[in-house]
Amino acid sequence: MTPIGGRSGRERRRLFAGGLLVGAAVAFGLAVLANALFGPFGGGDAASEARSTIEQSYFHRVGGSSLENASIQGMVRALRRRYGDRFTRYLSPRRFRQFESDTSGQFTGIGLTVTRAQRGLHDYQAFLHEAGHALHYAGCDPALPYTFRNISRDHALTEIYSYIFEAITREPEWHAHYFGLSDEESARNAEATTFLEAILFRRYTAKLQFELDFWARFNENGSGPDGYEKRLTEATGVRYRADAYLADMDAGFYSADYLRAWIRSAQLRDYLVREIGEDWWRNAETGDRLRALFAEGTRPSSEEIAARLGYQQLDIGPLLHELGA
Ligand SMILES: [Zn+2]
Repeated sequence: MTPIGGRSGRERRRLFAGGLLVGAAVAFGLAVLANALFGPFGGGDAASEARSTIEQSYFHRVGGSSLENASIQGMVRALRRRYGDRFTRYLSPRRFRQFESDTSGQFTGIGLTVTRAQRGLHDYQAFLHEAGHALHYAGCDPALPYTFRNISRDHALTEIYSYIFEAITREPEWHAHYFGLSDEESARNAEATTFLEAILFRRYTAKLQFELDFWARFNENGSGPDGYEKRLTEATGVRYRADAYLADMDAGFYSADYLRAWIRSAQLRDYLVREIGEDWWRNAETGDRLRALFAEGTRPSSEEIAARLGYQQLDIGPLLHELGA
């Protein structure tokens, strides 16, 4: 990974859920069938005799429910083998309850995993960033058509919401409140995030320029490895290796999506500060306004959001202000 190349890696881990439920729903129906067919044990059949013998005489203590589950499991396995059946499953009562809550929509909260954790502030930023995406998709109005709930038409939209959550780390009070830091330490940490933000914005500006060069005149006139090294190094002050020019390229001009989202999230933050106040990042009203935007799913374009907030599409005033330029 190139220096300060973290974002593109973690951006690939966007959140998608729900693809596995078709297979699971079939299993669910058949688990009910299995329960009905094989029912709870009882009566004086061979199976229950075997069970009571094991319970009384086996050299280990074996609970009745684990024997019962194993027994049903064995029957289902035999049926699957005999009939080449790939779908019938038996879920133990505990798994079944879990399955029910997974499929009935009776759950709250979102799940996030931060991989390649580096410890410290960077991980919190990654966590907040991905939380923004997760809350956006989790907050879609369920009545929207599938497309607007599940398919990103333009990543510049969802990245507004990841950035606005990440922007919380630029608030000194957040550092003071959650990490018990002194005012001086909090200000320094918040400033560090702004510094990093400025480098990343410059990095993505250079990346987009390089990608446009690359695709416009393939490998000629500075659009190859050397052009990459020159542009990125000049823009950030950090040395970028020429041979990373392909590995560091995001598909589909994603760098342009980021840049648009950067501009927009700064507009959104500016709007929230104006409408709600300096404490926007911990004010419940921010949550109300964001949830109203999340409810629209992926339908609006990033530029439509700009118009609603009262900004020109490419007005970088709020962003420059944020970066202290
Ligand atoms: Zn993102």
